Amino acid sequence: MIQATQQNGFQLNGVTVRFGDTVALRDVTVDFKDGERVGLVGPSGSGKTTLLRLLNGAIRPSQGDVNLHGQHVQNLSVKQLRRIRSEIGFIPQDLSLVPNVRVLHNVLSGRFGKQSFIGSMRSMLLPRKREAIDVHAILERVGIEEKLYHRTDHLSGGQQQRVAVARALYQQPIALLADEPVSSVDPARARDTVELLTNIAEQQHITLCMSLHTLSLARAFFPRLVGLRHGQVVFDRATDDITDDEFTELYRLSDDELLEDGGEQS
Ligand code: ADP
Ligand code: MG
Repeated sequence: MIQATQQNGFQLNGVTVRFGDTVALRDVTVDFKDGERVGLVGPSGSGKTTLLRLLNGAIRPSQGDVNLHGQHVQNLSVKQLRRIRSEIGFIPQDLSLVPNVRVLHNVLSGRFGKQSFIGSMRSMLLPRKREAIDVHAILERVGIEEKLYHRTDHLSGGQQQRVAVARALYQQPIALLADEPVSSVDPARARDTVELLTNIAEQQHITLCMSLHTLSLARAFFPRLVGLRHGQVVFDRATDDITDDEFTELYRLSDDELLEDGGEQS
């Protein structure tokens, strides 16, 4: 069941994020409505991960306003932010699974943000039967229920990706954020994972925001796409209304990048 938090999607207003001298995002304004499915596209270094980390409350903006489910991030205490973050499922690009424990334990960790420290320790050391049943049901949804008691690092890349999806779902999230969830697996598996996430989001009315470097998948599964380049939004529209030229332009190397490539272009 979804928690009774008032949901108001995500809004970024004039947001800039700097890391030292690097401007990762520059004056970004975007709005993600509850239940919307949005794909984030753009070349490497364009700011996709930074944008997802803002939506996840993992970083705060250098400038501008970030609103997560009706709450301004800059006004939140660490505790309040933790509560909001516990309702946002995040699937990082590296998955961040604990390799040498069972799948069950990795999935159980999805609820740690909602539990006390003692509760989390108890789940980890002595999972209740109810918890194992719940995790099994979620693994069934992602198609790897037979792996419940397997060691996580004995699974294939695609299966580990499903464990990370299951961990996010066990959180009972109101929103799911996934950072290039398809980069480590082969194209057929990649398609399966994107399809799985978009289906779940649609069925459960979970807001989904996913960064993707495979344009064909982004176009096939997301009704709206946000294109980022050099930390700025270059388009934000219904997928069907974005032209091929706009996609080409998004990934076109700039003159600076061509020079850095050592003049390999002819
Ligand atoms: P993408 O996910 O589209 O590849 P990122 O959001 O990871 O892009 O990065 C955007 C820019 O910000 C890049 O130039 C990157 O090097 C820089 N950057 C991202 N995170 C950090 C960080 N923690 N410290 C310093 N620079 C960072
Ligand atoms: Mg990234």
